[in-house]
Amino acid sequence: MFTAAQAVSWVRASAAVIDENAAALTKLDAAIGDGDHGTNMNRGFKAVLQRLDGLEAADFGSVFKAVGMALIGKVGGASGPLYGSFYLAVGKGLGEVEAVEDGGLAAALRAGYEGVVARGKAQLEDKTMLDAWHPALEALDAALAGGSDLGQALDQAERAAEAGVKATIPLVARKGRASYLGERSRDHQDPGATSTHLLVKALADVVNER
Ligand code: ADP
Ligand code: MG
Repeated sequence: MFTAAQAVSWVRASAAVIDENAAALTKLDAAIGDGDHGTNMNRGFKAVLQRLDGLEAADFGSVFKAVGMALIGKVGGASGPLYGSFYLAVGKGLGEVEAVEDGGLAAALRAGYEGVVARGKAQLEDKTMLDAWHPALEALDAALAGGSDLGQALDQAERAAEAGVKATIPLVARKGRASYLGERSRDHQDPGATSTHLLVKALADVVNER
């Protein structure tokens, strides 16, 4: 079971972890992009927190719509619309309710992933955030199918996302600003995949009450 209160906690924990890691994310982006990923995400999640404070309804749909709209409105660059699409699709997937079964959360996260694919048209191994989302969601589905509880399954997803991040290092970027570097984008960790891992970790931590 996953509740809208946990969703709000996830969003708040995400804002905190992005804030803590903003400098590191920006450093990764400085190597293969324009050095703004940390500041972009941090500005976005600050706006998200403001929207959450003014929010009246606490169903999933309202929470994630507020998150998505704040990110689309406040984050310049590629990642704002991409993460915005993610949260809007997650909110649509979960609907105007306040609790879902574990599988409902997994399906909504998958819908969020499909939203990112639809907007960004990237493929796996293009060295983007997809390379962290995809293994995370595969691990989540596999763990739930194998009978793990949601907390354990999200820990598996977090580890898979982390491995996905590491696996971006040898890849040549084929989407976004880093793709302008061609071969020179190799041997660098993708910033967007790194922020995705942080968001998955925040979710695992909230559900496991850490
Ligand atoms: P910008 O590249 O416009 O400066 P950011 O620095 O905030 O935006 O975000 C860069 C990250 O966005 C990349 O590291 C990559 O993970 C992700 N990204 C870029 N293009 C795409 C895409 N088409 N699909 C998925 N993710 C993408
Ligand atoms: Mg950038």
